[in-house]
Parts: sequence; structure tokens; C-alpha cells
Amino acid sequence: MTIRPRAADTLVIGGGLVGAAVGWGLASRGETVTVLDEGDQALRASCGNFGLVWVQSKGDGMHDYARWTRSSADIWPEFSERLKEDTGISTGYHKPGGMHLCLSEQDLEKTRALCNRMHNVNGAQGYGSEILDRKQVADMLPGIGPDVVGGSFGRHDGHASPLKLLMGLHAGIKARGSHYVSGAAVDKIERDGGGYSVTTAKGVYRAGKLVLAAGHGNSAFGPLVGLDIPLRPEKGQILVTERVAPFLSMPTHVVRQTEEGSILIGDSHEDTGFSTLSTTPIMSQIASRAARFFPLLKNLRVVRSWGAVRVLSPDGYPIYQQSETHPGVFSVNCHSGVTLAGAHAMLLAPMISAGQLAPEFEAFSARRFHGQTH
Ligand SMILES: Cc1cc2nc3c(=O)[nH]c(=O)nc-3n(C[C@H](O)[C@H](O)[C@H](O)COP(=O)(O)OP(=O)(O)OC[C@H]3O[C@@H](n4cnc5c(N)ncnc54)[C@H](O)[C@@H]3O)c2cc1C
Repeated sequence: MTIRPRAADTLVIGGGLVGAAVGWGLASRGETVTVLDEGDQALRASCGNFGLVWVQSKGDGMHDYARWTRSSADIWPEFSERLKEDTGISTGYHKPGGMHLCLSEQDLEKTRALCNRMHNVNGAQGYGSEILDRKQVADMLPGIGPDVVGGSFGRHDGHASPLKLLMGLHAGIKARGSHYVSGAAVDKIERDGGGYSVTTAKGVYRAGKLVLAAGHGNSAFGPLVGLDIPLRPEKGQILVTERVAPFLSMPTHVVRQTEEGSILIGDSHEDTGFSTLSTTPIMSQIASRAARFFPLLKNLRVVRSWGAVRVLSPDGYPIYQQSETHPGVFSVNCHSGVTLAGAHAMLLAPMISAGQLAPEFEAFSARRFHGQTH
């Protein structure tokens, strides 16, 4: 007879990129973790994203976020390597730097102004991005079209396969002796002695600590544990072409080539609620713009497309917080779950394991939306 594992050190609600990264990070520190996930039919940004590990342009309005993003990019090589050691699964991570391409002088000026504003964000470590003129961009990316006027090269940028990353994290949780339970939609959270019990479609689970990492599902859980988690959906559509020989030596902000040779073309920013529909007018806009960046894309067949819903806070920056009324309960939300996977597994998970977020994480609390600080 199989006895389902019900008691753990920590329960993580949500097994997308955020919950799985935190779950694997906790399990790597020797905790017993149970990750409870609604299942493959759930709304999941983690299965519809572009796969950038991207630093440049992040955190213009919140420098704590810029530094956090950079920390994650810095730790990604080690993170990816450790995950591979645990599971044999490669995330396909490469860090050749990344290019933001500009199609107009105004866009180039805007990008230059951003670079100047961010210049000191990491102190002596530098921002790591530089503005290039058209010729310099063409030297690095020979396939650019005549409309490209220049760009910004970020040397900390890179990309990975989001699906291999997710698969690796799920496998890593198991490899560390912890549990990932699919089909376990959570509908109740209650105090249970010094810890918590969580009722799911697959039964009741208990633990001393609780991490809410259910993407948009977090908004409903927050009030049950004394947390405010305001989130909004934003749709992004992506196109995928047939496989071709390597022609892009690095990812750009909207076109990247996968290890297998497919070209991923993104993306849109649409206020269409929780819809994940692909729509022809938007797909056509995405394709036309991409062909201005790289004219050879006009000759390729699009073999797949999808829409997915971003998990965004009101200001677009992450929300990390711990409950004041429910000790041991944490919530984690962000809109860059690939980029931040390294930091979530290797920097955030140790704090959760210790039961306390670092004081500087107050900047990421949802209290910022109410003008409250501690
Ligand atoms: C078009 C697009 C492009 C993107 N590109 C990038 C990129 O290039 N780089 C980058 O870093 N990020 C990118 N992102 C963002 C990234 O995908 C998200 O930040 C990340 O996937 C969020 O992960 P998550 O685990 O918080 O949420 P989700 O992936 O939405 O997962 C939430 C999980 O919670 C579970 N869940 C929900 N409710 C319950 C419940 N009641 N009980 C149990 N489980 C529950 C669901 O089953 C699901 O697995 C992109 C997103 C989109 C949409």
C-alpha cells in the first residue's frame, strides 16, 4: 500500500517556475517539501514564455529590483549546473549577452537615456549594457535589416529553455527526496497547531511553513493568511518558426534562436483578461516587426503560436513578503520567473528556510502599494 506523504517542513502552493524554483531551493537545503499544483490544465505563464534571462532594462523605477535581477543572472550558471547535477537535465542556458534592437532614432535615444539612468545602479560592478550604433550591431548580428539604427548590448543577458527548466526543477524536487503533486488544486488553508494544513483535490497536507507561489491564484489565497497580493493579467503572444541553421549568436529582446534551431518571435502586451487566444492581427504585427529586425525571417514558416498570461503586480515589479499574522507564511510573485529562477532557488529559498526574509526585502512587499513601509 502506498502512503501519501502528508507532512512536510514546507508546503509550496503552485508548481510553475516560481514555486518549483523555491521548492527545489528548499529541498536542496535538506528540507522536506511538498509542492502542490493544480495541474497541466491550469493557467500557467511558465509554459508560455519567451525564455530570456534578461538584465538590461529591468528595474528602472525600482533599483532594488535591478540589483536582484542582476544577482539572479550572476548566479544562473551555478544554478543551472547544480540542477543538471541533481537531475541530468540541461536547461539549455547560454549567456552570450543580449541585444535590444532599435528601429528608430527615438527608440535609440530612449534606450541611451535608460542606460545613462541605470549607470550607477550596481555601483562599482557597473550596469553592464552599452549603446551600439548600427555598424557595431551589424558586426555582432550580421542578419539585421536596413531599418535597425542601433541597439543596446547587455553582457549579463542570456536565455534558456523554459520547459526544460520547469521539467528540471520538478525532477530536482523529486531527486532531493521531496514531492511534486499534480492535480492537487488547493481550496482551503487553515492553521494547524504551530503550522498549517492545506486542503486539496488530493487530500489534506500539513507543514510548518507555507509558500504561496500560485501565480494569479495567489490573489485569492492572500486574505486567508493576512496578505494583500494585488495582481493583474497581461497577455503575450509568441510565434515559433521551423528550425534553421544557427544565424543568431545571441538573443534579442524579441527574437531568439533555440538550441534546436527554431526561432521564437515575441511578443505582445495585451489587456485581454485571462484569455490565452492567439489572434491573427497581433500575430501579423509581431511577424512584421520581427522581419524588420531580421529580413530572412520572411522566408520561414511559422509552425506554432500561443498566447500566455503574465502575472503582474500593479507596478510590474515582484512581490515578496511574509505574513505578520501567520508566521511562516510567504508569498512570491514576479513577472520574470525564468530570469529570477536562479535567485529564487539559491537566494530566496535560504531566507524562507530560515523563516525570515532579509530586511531589504521590505521594498518588495505589497505594502508599497498602500504607501506603508516599516
Ligand atoms: C508571453 C510571455 C513571455 C514571457 N517571457 C519571459 C522571459 O523571456 N523571461 C522571463 O524571465 N519571464 C518571462 N515571462 C514571465 C514568466 O513566464 C513568469 O514570470 C513565470 O512563469 C511565473 O511563474 P509562476 O510560477 O509565478 O506562475 P504560473 O506559471 O502561472 O504558475 C502558477 C502555478 O500555480 C498553480 N496554481 C494556481 N492556482 C492553484 C491552486 N488553487 N492550487 C494549486 N496550484 C495552483 C498552477 O497550476 C500553476 O502551475 C513571460 C511570460 C509571458 C506570458
